[in-house]
Amino acid sequence: MALGLADIGRKATGMRVLVVEDEPRLRASLRVGLEAEGYAVDAAADGGEGLWYARENSYDVILLDIMLPVLNGYKVCQALREDAIWTPVLMLTAKDGDWDQIEALDTGADDYVTKPFSFDVVLARIRSLVRRGATPRPATLTVGELSFDPAGRSVTRAGEPLSLTARELSLLEFLMRRSGSVVTKQEILNNVWDFNFEGDPNIVEVYIGRLRRKVDKPFGQDYIETLRGSGYRMRAPE
Ligand code: CA
Repeated sequence: MALGLADIGRKATGMRVLVVEDEPRLRASLRVGLEAEGYAVDAAADGGEGLWYARENSYDVILLDIMLPVLNGYKVCQALREDAIWTPVLMLTAKDGDWDQIEALDTGADDYVTKPFSFDVVLARIRSLVRRGATPRPATLTVGELSFDPAGRSVTRAGEPLSLTARELSLLEFLMRRSGSVVTKQEILNNVWDFNFEGDPNIVEVYIGRLRRKVDKPFGQDYIETLRGSGYRMRAPE
């Protein structure tokens, strides 16, 4: 059988890749480059669309930008892992701070590359992730005696299960992911409520109070600190 012009130079891998990147030129060049390497490529321009594709289809690897409209890359990755979708995720990080990368791995990403990256590096990482395959590995968060399972939305302290509402769980998760750092009330509102929250910001204090009663008080040792005028910090005593 004769090869058509379009087939020349193509070596189909049978692999499917999802690219979630809002920057149009980068999205297009990743698609063109990966297709030239024989990957079947779907591309999404925001986190909501990316999550939809990842839930509806099956991919061998997902390339996921972090700063995305609608839903950021961390949240997309977290939502996938919560749905027990273990497709390997390669995060495309814009910043080169450690925090960013640790955060990416914390939310269940498998690897990351820092922008600007070379296409060859991305290809090599994809190959290695494909070899590794999708393996269930819920990223449990631990701070001192506290252990939070993002996949099962459950938390224990010193092995004892705690009964928290969905919002309390989200707040606790946010504090645990940033343990050791001060978080402002506004950051909490932006991440645990949403960017358009227009209610009373004192809601944060109310929820911090509830968390303390459930997470700290019964155990006689406080992990949640209030830093007057700046915010809150979760820290396990040495
Ligand atoms: Ca972006």
